[in-house]
Formats: sequence, structure tokens, C-alpha cells
Amino acid sequence: SADRLRPVGAHEADGIPRALDLGLRTGFGDDRLSVGALKIYTDGGMMARTAALSSPYEGLDHTGELQDDPQALADTIVDGHLAGWQLAVHAIGDRAADVALDALERAQRLRPRPDARHRIEHAGLIRPDQLPRLARLGISAVVQPNFLRYFGDDYAAIMGEERAPWLYRGRAFLDHGIPLVGSSDRPVTDGSPLRAIQFMVERTTESGQVIGPDEGITLDEALRAYTVAGAVACHWEDSLGSLTPGKLADLVVLGDDPRRVDTSRIGDIEVVATYVDGRETGIRAG
Ligand SMILES: [Zn+2]
Repeated sequence: SADRLRPVGAHEADGIPRALDLGLRTGFGDDRLSVGALKIYTDGGMMARTAALSSPYEGLDHTGELQDDPQALADTIVDGHLAGWQLAVHAIGDRAADVALDALERAQRLRPRPDARHRIEHAGLIRPDQLPRLARLGISAVVQPNFLRYFGDDYAAIMGEERAPWLYRGRAFLDHGIPLVGSSDRPVTDGSPLRAIQFMVERTTESGQVIGPDEGITLDEALRAYTVAGAVACHWEDSLGSLTPGKLADLVVLGDDPRRVDTSRIGDIEVVATYVDGRETGIRAG
């Protein structure tokens, strides 16, 4: 993560204040093992009430906390950008998202990298006014539908009525043209993509409460978030994300068609076979 960055002896004209030794950064490696985005933590999480909010948690007299002084966080984000990294900025609360957006805007102004594909990881609570900013800066929202399923009852209670529909959005991101990417955050929750795809469509908690029903998306949009959009978010669209001639044959064979079963059953579809680079691995699940 970003605390590994340190001052390097780059040429002054390169404008790289901090980096990893040898200039290692996003993209180094091969199909099996590679260096991804640089994760930068700006706040904590909802469970611990440490996600940084712009107004207090419902029933509590505090607004969570940032991981560091906002200026220091912003400098790390800007330096990571200048050193050529793709950034995956962990921001769960809307105040943390403000810090991320301000810093990413400054970074892109200092040195425009139109195809950097920086991401906000989690984007757990995004206010309506923040949506056009994400879109304008070309930032992807990498969300965890599992959080809504397993912790959503608690999250909705501590956000209150007005903010609960802004939790782990789907529809609003797509409507604003913000790339929507599905993720598990494993091992924090279950890692099954099929189950998460189901939750992205349903937005139903374990108690049966539907959180922000207007944020529900279609099955095809959820499948896209876990395939094509995921590949694009990692700069892997030339080799992964879809079954296309010329790409790697990394795929699963499902026991049923997600488009034909009832939405509530998608997570239970059996994985009959798993192929990596065209070879069957013997991994099955269901
Ligand atoms: Zn995180």
C-alpha cells in the first residue's frame, strides 16, 4: 500500500517525488502475477463507525475519522499519480470520498493522465452532488454488494432514512456514466461473484429489507460489473473480461443460466467447471 512509497532519485524533470525502488508500478508482471493499483486508505469502515462522513452517524455524536491529516492523504494520492501508478483509493464515507475527489482532481490537473483509470474502492456512501464529480474525473466506483446483504441492516440504521439509499449505489453510478465495478473485499465477506451479482440486482439485506430500491440494476448490468468492467478497471480488457477470440480462455461453466433462474437463486447456481488459460482446473463450487 501507499506507505511503501519513498523518496527516490528520479530526474528532477520526471517530477516523481515518491515511488517504489526500481520504479515498480501498475502493469509490471505477466498474466499470472502482476502489480495492480496502489491502494491508499483514506478512512475506516462502517462496521467500526470509522468511515468518515460529512454529518454524524445516526444516533452518535461523531462523523468517523480519516486515516491521516487530509493534506497528507491528498499529497500521497497526488504523488502516487505522479509516479505513474493507477490508484485504488479506499473511501467508504462521503467525507473520505471528498478527500479522494479533491486530490484526484489536483493530480489530473498537475499532470493529465486521461487513461489512468483511478478508482474509488468501496464508494460506500456517495452523496448526490458527488456523482457528477466522479463522472467528470473518470473515476470508477468499485463496490461490494455483499456488504449490503450481510451488514446492510446495521448500515441503514446508522445512516438514517435520507442517506441509506446512497449506500453502495448501482443505478446512479451507471446513469451518470461512472464505470461500475463489482468486488468482494474477501476475506471481509464471502467471495462468490454469483452471489454478489444476485445482491447487486436485489439489494436485499439478510432480514429482507431492500436498501435504496432505485439503485437496483439489471442482471446484465451486474454481470458486466463483474466481467467486462472489472477487466477494464484493471487495464486487462485486451486479455480478459469477455469470451472473445484472442483473449485468455479464463472462464467458468455454470449449471444454469443466470438469466433464466429466479433472481434469488442466482447465488446457488452450480459452477460445473473452471478454466484458466484454456485448461480445466478441477475447481468446482456451488
Ligand atoms: Zn478497502
